[in-house]
Amino acid sequence: MPKITSVKARLIYNSRGNKTIEVDVISDNRFLGRVCAPSGASVGKHEAISFPDGSPEKSLRILTDNSKKFLEHDASNLKSIHDVIRTLDQSPDYSKIGGAVAFAVTIASLESAAKALDKPLFQLISKEKEYRFPFPLGNILGGGAHAGPGTPDIQEILICAIGSKSIRDAIETDLAVHKELRNVLQKEDPDFTNGRGDEGGWAPKLDNEKALELSANACENLGYTLGKEVALGVDFASSTQWNDQSKMYEYKRGGFENSPEKQIEFASNIIEKYKLVYAEDAVHEEAFEEMAELTAKFPNTMITGDDLIVTNTEILKKAIKTKSCNAAILKVNQAGSLYDALGFADEANSNNIKLITSHRSGESIDSHISHIGIGTNSKMLKVGVVGGERIAKLNELIRLSEHDLIRGMAQI
Ligand code: PEP
Ligand code: MG
Repeated sequence: MPKITSVKARLIYNSRGNKTIEVDVISDNRFLGRVCAPSGASVGKHEAISFPDGSPEKSLRILTDNSKKFLEHDASNLKSIHDVIRTLDQSPDYSKIGGAVAFAVTIASLESAAKALDKPLFQLISKEKEYRFPFPLGNILGGGAHAGPGTPDIQEILICAIGSKSIRDAIETDLAVHKELRNVLQKEDPDFTNGRGDEGGWAPKLDNEKALELSANACENLGYTLGKEVALGVDFASSTQWNDQSKMYEYKRGGFENSPEKQIEFASNIIEKYKLVYAEDAVHEEAFEEMAELTAKFPNTMITGDDLIVTNTEILKKAIKTKSCNAAILKVNQAGSLYDALGFADEANSNNIKLITSHRSGESIDSHISHIGIGTNSKMLKVGVVGGERIAKLNELIRLSEHDLIRGMAQI
C-alpha cells in the first residue's frame, strides 16, 4: 500500500486570477499527486465553503500546521484521508478548514496512489470491468454571473455532440460549433469583440432569445440537426435572477420579470423550441416543486440540479423523493472531499439520476475531473470547449482514449 510521506500546500492562482490552494501529496517518498482547488462564481447557498472567512491564507496555515496527521496513511484509502480531514473540521460545510482543502488533499492522495500503483486515476475511483466516456458538454455562449453587462441573463448555452460515436469526434464537433458561432456572431454584429466569458463561451451583447437563436443557427450552418448529431443545453442558473423578497425572477439585462409560474413557462418554451437535451437550474435553488413539474413534463431532457442539489447527498435524497430532477451536477468542491462526492455519485447512480461531472467557472489546468467523470459513470462532463483550463480536461479524455478499459461513449 502506498504510504503518504509528505503533504505540502501553497497558494497559487486560478483561471480568474484569484488566489487558491494547491496541495502536493507524496507517497513512498516518490509518487506526487498535485491538485489545485477550483472555485465558482454562481455559488449555491448550501455548498461547502471554499475558504474559512474567505481566506486561502487561513486554509494554508491550518493545513500546514496539521500536515503530519496525514503521514503513514494509505494514500489509496480515501475514507482514511477523509477521516483525518474530518478530525480537523466537523462542520457540514467545511467552514473551519475550507472545502478547497478537502477537495485538494483527497484528490491529490488518490492521484499519488494511482501513480504508486501504476494505474489511471479513474480505476481508483471505481473498480469496473469497463468504463464509458461521458459526453463533453461545453459552454459556447456565456452570460449571467460569468460575463459582463449586455450579455444574456441566462448563464450558459451549451453544446453536446450527442450523436458522436467517439470521444475525439465529440470534442471536434463541439469545437466546430464554438468556432462557427463566432462567425455567426460576427455577421450579426460586425463590432463583436470576440470577447469570452469565464468558461470560454462567447460573450456577445445579446438578449436570451437571440443568443439561443444564433447558437442554433451555428449548429444548422454546419449541417447538424438539433437533437440528432448535436443538441443544445442551457444552464439557467435561475438563483441569480431570483429575488426572495419579491418572489420574482428579475431578468435585469432583458428588462422583464417572471413570476414562479411564468418562469416554468419561460423555461418550458426554451426547452421545447430548441429541443434541449439538458436544462440546469431552470428554477431557483429551493424550488423543488417547480423542478418536479419540469421533470414530469420533460422526461427526455436532462432536468438537472446544480445549485438545487449542490452535490449534497442529503439534498439529493430529498430531490429523489420529490422527483425534482432526473439528472444532477457533481462538483467535488461543492461537497468538499472526493469521499463525500463519491458517496453522492453512488446515491445518484442507484436511483437512476444521471450524473454530470462539472468544472467550476474559476478553474485550474488540472484534469482530474476527466477521470472523476469516467469513474463515477457520468453521462456528461461539463468542462467548457476552449481556454487552456478547459481544453486540459478534454485533452486528457483524448489521452484516455488509448486506454483499453474505456469502451465507447456513455448511454444518455
Ligand atoms: C455552474 O453554475 O454550473 C458553473 C459551472 O458555474 P460556477 O462554477 O460559477 O458555479
Ligand atoms: Mg450551474
